[in-house]
Amino acid sequence: MTETVPEKMLACVLHGKEDARLEKIPVPKLQPGDLLLRVEAALTCGTDLKVFLRGYHERMIQPPSVFGHEFAGKVVLSENGRFPAGTRVVAANSAPCRDCYFCGLDKPNLCSDLLFANGAYAEYLRIPSRIVEENCLPLPPDLPAAKAALVEPLACAVKGVEDVHIKSGEKVLVIGAGPLGLMLARLSVLAGAEVTTVDDQPDRLAVAAELGVTNIVAERLSLQLIERLRHDFTPYKLGFDCVIEAVGKPETWNHAVELLRPGGRVNLFGGCPRGTELRVDTTRLHYDEISIYASFHHTPDTVRKALEFVKNSQVPAFSLVREGRSLFDLPEILKEMRAGTTPPKIAVLPRLAAGARLSAEELENFSASL
Ligand SMILES: [Zn+2]
Ligand SMILES: [Zn+2]
Repeated sequence: MTETVPEKMLACVLHGKEDARLEKIPVPKLQPGDLLLRVEAALTCGTDLKVFLRGYHERMIQPPSVFGHEFAGKVVLSENGRFPAGTRVVAANSAPCRDCYFCGLDKPNLCSDLLFANGAYAEYLRIPSRIVEENCLPLPPDLPAAKAALVEPLACAVKGVEDVHIKSGEKVLVIGAGPLGLMLARLSVLAGAEVTTVDDQPDRLAVAAELGVTNIVAERLSLQLIERLRHDFTPYKLGFDCVIEAVGKPETWNHAVELLRPGGRVNLFGGCPRGTELRVDTTRLHYDEISIYASFHHTPDTVRKALEFVKNSQVPAFSLVREGRSLFDLPEILKEMRAGTTPPKIAVLPRLAAGARLSAEELENFSASL
């Protein structure tokens, strides 16, 4: 069943620092192999907030530009035989080239020519053919787009947990309970670890408890707290088997390294500002033989695994995506995110009336009507 596609669409356009406006702009034109998606749901993300506050993104967004990169929806025009019009899909926000040195090494996340797609805060979105080929997946009919859109950030978390090889029974500490910290904690729980989460915002930690985290610590990391975490939650007070930093601050990276037992692994997952540095005691590295990882982005393999975790509800998407709001309200939502008053993720819905707010339950029903 084909839908008629209008000439113009509603989109949120970033014009510069803290300047995002709803505008009518032309619907993107397709090249061979591309798809045009009608966005059913896009999710808010800390990266988009950063882009909004800064007014640009070095690699991806120069204003004026559409933005938003976590999405799912329905194909309405297809230049690609694999996904005819009417297919509901989720796609990642990037795809590797399969041609460069790093792709040859099977490190597609480091591809020197990663192609990005942005513009999910809009009624329609073009998915370029390379992303269609590498990172576009069909959805079961009953999977709400607001859940499926979690695949992109979750794929990053899947890679983060796989990189440090978390084993059943291990004591894992996740620092930070933002959306990625929560997903990393959930995946560690699924790997059989006993997970401790620390964050200074109690409302975020309520979600961690829902996701099966054993020890919840609502406190700011300090030297005293580091002592206490070791003392209370690790054997012989030696430190954690694995620590995952999901905050993205150099001082927290340091604390993460300090909280590790000899022989342990740390994943410095949260990206820090360019030019910042980490200082590590050589004794810790050599005589304590700790291993340092810092996972970046996702791969086509982890994108597929992420969709499985959402489909089988092992990662309950609506524990994170707790609200549905209208695309019309996005500028307002971005301001609320800056103030820190929003749930971990909000589903931004082009077909929802301005000002409306849907609970997770209503979101499930609304999605079915799309
Ligand atoms: Zn994101
Ligand atoms: Zn490549």
